[in-house]
Amino acid sequence: MAQAIPINLQVVLVEPAGPLNVGSVARLCANFGIDGLRLVAPRCDPLGEEARRMAVHGVELLERASLWPTLEAALADCDRVVATSGRLEGPPLPLLPPADALAWLLEGSASPQADPVPQPKMAPGALVFGREDRGLANGELLQAGRLLQIGTGPSYSSLNLSHAVAVVLHELHTLRRGERSLTASPPPTAAEGAMVWANPCRRHDLEAALADAEALLLEVGFLLPHTSRARMAKLRALLQRAQVSEGEVALLRGMVCQLRWASRRRARSESDT
Ligand code: SAH
Repeated sequence: MAQAIPINLQVVLVEPAGPLNVGSVARLCANFGIDGLRLVAPRCDPLGEEARRMAVHGVELLERASLWPTLEAALADCDRVVATSGRLEGPPLPLLPPADALAWLLEGSASPQADPVPQPKMAPGALVFGREDRGLANGELLQAGRLLQIGTGPSYSSLNLSHAVAVVLHELHTLRRGERSLTASPPPTAAEGAMVWANPCRRHDLEAALADAEALLLEVGFLLPHTSRARMAKLRALLQRAQVSEGEVALLRGMVCQLRWASRRRARSESDT
């Protein structure tokens, strides 16, 4: 049988309320070789009797599930993040079919064909699932580089949480084992190789760059406190689509830093005259 593509994959559940769902998801993670389960502010006892009963042989994975206060904290060390949504209206990024979004997630673990240099320690990839009652807010979806939607009939698009996890992990498993080809993007040519395969930066670096940029843009009056949230959401969507690499995020931060310095120096010299 083909070997699975190696990648550190984390399933993230945001504020799950049902212990049966949490236990079922732990079982699914064990079924499909997921490395870890991250729970953001669970609204149930993830180690209670009901969750354990549903986890069956996934109980070890359930016991080592990590707890996080916010989605941002849970994703800070990840580079590729795919978030899932059953809602049809108003997504902040395009909704992709499972195979496309997951092929992008797995691209992070494939080695460049043109330049087989050993990879530095790989950042985890994450698959994010929302609350049973209201899914993920747009601000949370925007923390992902890709959005995934499981196609359903048009009149009822929302699956039960653990059923959605089952469909997604089965598709991922099929792709990882090479039983279906990765079709999200064609393999890079030698010249494109270094660029295309540059991994996206980790989430915390992008958030830090956005926080720096927001502070500067408020300082120079491009953003106003009451418009800042909406405009920064647009900028975040743009950067997520662009799949900014480590070097590019450092470039952005350097630019912001220099602009802040220049703007403060100008303000000082104007106040001296
Ligand atoms: N009423 C909620 C339903 C949430 S279902 C809503 O409006 O979003 C709980 C979670 O299951 C969702 O946040 C999503 O992570 C996943 N899910 C449900 N249906 C899905 C679908 N069709 N495609 C992808 N994920 C889905």
